[in-house]
Amino acid sequence: MNINYTLKRSRKRRKTISLQISDNSEVTICAPHFTPAGEINRFVREKQNWIQRTIQKQISLRTKEKEYTTGELFYYLGESFPLEVFFEENARKGLVFWRDRFYLNSPDAAVDGMSFFVSWYKKKAREHLTQRVDFFSRKLSLQPRQVKITSAGKRWGSCSEDNNLSFSFRLIMAPPEVIDYVVVHELMHIREKSHSSRFWKLIEAVMPEYKIHRHWLKEESGKFIL
Ligand SMILES: [Zn+2]
Repeated sequence: MNINYTLKRSRKRRKTISLQISDNSEVTICAPHFTPAGEINRFVREKQNWIQRTIQKQISLRTKEKEYTTGELFYYLGESFPLEVFFEENARKGLVFWRDRFYLNSPDAAVDGMSFFVSWYKKKAREHLTQRVDFFSRKLSLQPRQVKITSAGKRWGSCSEDNNLSFSFRLIMAPPEVIDYVVVHELMHIREKSHSSRFWKLIEAVMPEYKIHRHWLKEESGKFIL
């Protein structure tokens, strides 16, 4: 297997070749400026197995489906909180979020845990997104016709021809500033439907750091699996 990597040659006093794997599995090799290509290739070949193992581990962690057991972590507004599963027959079945912890009352969480989480997330997403759309819609004087919460897996938001906005409930797992970026993005489509350079300039005027949030969604959202 070929390893894709970015090579950074350093003019500074670096003496050895080193290797980094980012959280999203990008490999960077740092080498002293005049290191011959052969030496770099040999270095990568030697580390190949380790690189592959590390990336595999990252991928399986990132895409692991939830089992709805005690101790598992669930995202909400960019932070992760542990779940506690219990069963109390006389109490109401379902999911409660209290003092930085999720409590799920269910005799069979593996079976119904997901649907309890989905409805909880949808409710929170509706509250939060309605409020943020309202805020930015006043600020930007852009009025959507309707705001819908969807179950889309990959599409965070959309704006239809007649300016109905949709947002995936999964967005509520992201940090507030990332959610705001998606809100501003979709609202801006009311003014400009395509992703033209004008569109990105309009976004930048409202949110100069928008690229950080866009990048975050691309790289981190794999964690939002239920
Ligand atoms: Zn768009």
